Amino acid sequence: MNQIHVIGAGLAGLSAALSLTAKGRTVVVHEAGPAAGGRCRSYFDKELGFRIDNGNHLLLSGNTSARAYIKEIQAEDAFRPSVGASFPFMDLNSGQRWTVRPNSGRIPWWIFSARRRVPGTRLSDYLGMARILRFHDETTVGDAMRRGQLYWRLVEPLAVAALNTSPQEGLARLLGAVIRETLMRGGAACVPMLPKQGLSEALIDPAIAMLKSRGADIRFNSRIAELILEDVHVTALRGADGLIPISDGDAVVLAVPPWVASDLVPALMVPDAFEAILNIHFRHSADPSGPFAATGFIGLISGTAEWVFIKPDHVSVTISAANNMVDDPARSIAALVWPNVVDALGLPAAMKDQMPPYRVVKEKRATFAATARQDVRRPEAAAEMAANLVIAGDWTDTGLPATIEGAIRSGRTAADVLLKL
Ligand SMILES: Cc1cc2nc3c(=O)[nH]c(=O)nc-3n(C[C@H](O)[C@H](O)[C@H](O)COP(=O)(O)OP(=O)(O)OC[C@H]3O[C@@H](n4cnc5c(N)ncnc54)[C@H](O)[C@@H]3O)c2cc1C
Repeated sequence: MNQIHVIGAGLAGLSAALSLTAKGRTVVVHEAGPAAGGRCRSYFDKELGFRIDNGNHLLLSGNTSARAYIKEIQAEDAFRPSVGASFPFMDLNSGQRWTVRPNSGRIPWWIFSARRRVPGTRLSDYLGMARILRFHDETTVGDAMRRGQLYWRLVEPLAVAALNTSPQEGLARLLGAVIRETLMRGGAACVPMLPKQGLSEALIDPAIAMLKSRGADIRFNSRIAELILEDVHVTALRGADGLIPISDGDAVVLAVPPWVASDLVPALMVPDAFEAILNIHFRHSADPSGPFAATGFIGLISGTAEWVFIKPDHVSVTISAANNMVDDPARSIAALVWPNVVDALGLPAAMKDQMPPYRVVKEKRATFAATARQDVRRPEAAAEMAANLVIAGDWTDTGLPATIEGAIRSGRTAADVLLKL
């Protein structure tokens, strides 16, 4: 194989390009945008006056492909020092706060400890939660276990975050895949990994630097508008400056979002229903010695805000599975969640009327909806549309929901398929 063209410089495309260059392949990356990262990126917000992430991303130490990727791009130091597996929560209705702290090893003795488990839960609840792992059919998270305190205070918020889909519709088997790779492996696999600065500094810029150091040709503002297919081979790409020939022995990794992939390869079946994620960034310097400054985030129950992340110069709120809110005006969204932030941070109640400058980032098609109907529309890497074409992306058939881990794993799988050709 001579030259490999990777279309899309999101995590899937970058991961494929890294795997291929690691094996000495010549790689050209075509990215439509002015920068890499796709749905996982940072940028300077002129109005707020600092860099923000398009969305808060939570990675866990059990995300093995992501960790291998971070190691490969030598970005381990771009993440905050570990504070162990620690998940602070607050119920905004009752004001109750607790921290879920799974113990390191695989034997989950933390569920016996009132100081480590979810308040108001019993051992039998955790056995019930393990049922989620059993489902391989179309059972939803909401139907997979009893909806008691453990469900509302842990499983529901984790499911919404991991699946970006309401638990009434989200597939238990996809959540089960996440639990199997994290919680089931013990607290050591559940340590949150948060960037010291932004997503781009931690996951994207070092990958670009590594690829360049390996001789990859990375082309920004280089949208591919068409794949020319002849006799089950891609023979050319239509780029902004005309046709890019794909010679005999060259290959293509298509690592674009599903709606672009189906435009470029119309015969490809892809997920076609999506869920939005909202991120609301407030200019506010949180007390660095505050109760959860060490973990850097808190989960909220009974509010509109679901997770609050504490950054050096701002606090940032995530609301997942947000199709029902995404078209609301930015101001009303911010006004709805700011009081939740005030409560979460333990600020004086009077501050609820003093909303600081904010930015609402609406990612309308943040991920495919993790439903049974969508999961069957996920194609494998070797899409069999053309002999020299493979696909990658969080929406391909990774067995995981649409996550960083899934995207990175899909890029590696695509590269492995090509390397075996
Ligand atoms: C707000 C938000 C919050 C999230 N939170 C989390 C989280 O907490 N944890 C987690 O694990 N995951 C999270 N995710 C999911 C995660 O971001 C994605 O799974 C991952 O970034 C997808 O990577 P990808 O490479 O598959 O796709 P993308 O990031 O979409 O990359 C595709 C790339 O292709 C480029 N492209 C498109 N069309 C063309 C074309 N014609 N020619 C050339 N290039 C093209 C795009 O510009 C883009 O750079 C979140 C996503 C969002 C949006």
